[in-house]
Amino acid sequence: MSAPPGTDQVRRFLLEEFPVRGQLVQLESSWAALREHARYPEPVRDLLGQAVAAAVLLASTLKFEGGLTLQMQGSGAVRLLVAQCTHDFRIRAVAHYDEARVAADFAMLAGAGRITVTVESLERGAPYQGIVPLEGASFAECIDGYFATSEQLPTHVRLAADATRAGGLLVQKLPGSSAQAAADPEAAAKVWARVHGHAATLDARDLLYAPAETLVRSSATVDDVRLFAGSPVKFECRCTRDRVLSVLRALGEDEVRDVLVEQGAVTVTCEFCHRPYVFDAIDVTQAFGPPSAPAPKRLN
Ligand SMILES: [Zn+2]
Repeated sequence: MSAPPGTDQVRRFLLEEFPVRGQLVQLESSWAALREHARYPEPVRDLLGQAVAAAVLLASTLKFEGGLTLQMQGSGAVRLLVAQCTHDFRIRAVAHYDEARVAADFAMLAGAGRITVTVESLERGAPYQGIVPLEGASFAECIDGYFATSEQLPTHVRLAADATRAGGLLVQKLPGSSAQAAADPEAAAKVWARVHGHAATLDARDLLYAPAETLVRSSATVDDVRLFAGSPVKFECRCTRDRVLSVLRALGEDEVRDVLVEQGAVTVTCEFCHRPYVFDAIDVTQAFGPPSAPAPKRLN
């Protein structure tokens, strides 16, 4: 079973004559695979889908190999939400929520808190981190706030998700100016205002189900738009046995040995992909060294 053409891709576009560019993403198979083992209430599911689409859109602006993590922490029904996307568009995400407090309203889901954007490069040193408060009527508005504070480029993001798809659109005004924009800065400003204004009018159905060509042509509001071939997006967890083992080490030897005695083995399930990792007595001994023997009796 394969998704319709054009889905599970992120596509870039730009206006030939004006310094405006954008990205578009519509996910279907990858969005289903990502939730295969989780049953989220509808509002949490849709928020998670929006965060995943946002992570893909933000990752598509990266200029290096690495990954991007969006983490929402707040006092609302969703205590913690993590959405990750690598430079080659492998996504994974998870949400922790309080079932009894789930409501359709973004403010109720998010509460007071923040979104942390972490960008990690495989080659460079320390990760970059940007923090934006949960002040906005939607997840997308918070991401707009992130761009407003972290980048100088005017950016507008729209996001949507439902049971079938997650998607979004990002439009950005570039600093440089093309020949035509330089010759007529007023026209360039008008084009950006129209692109920005049009993006604001799109509804969830447009964002999720309109063909990319249609969406981009109408969004660009001028004829000279170039839509690039898409890059595939897929669900793929990056968990490894070694990483799980380092989590076990952090938990502490006593706790791990207690579980081992009780259950015969220690099983850790990855919360992103639900893959179980089983560690038996030999694995635990390898991780922590041999159990400390009881003090030997003295021979008299
Ligand atoms: Zn995993």
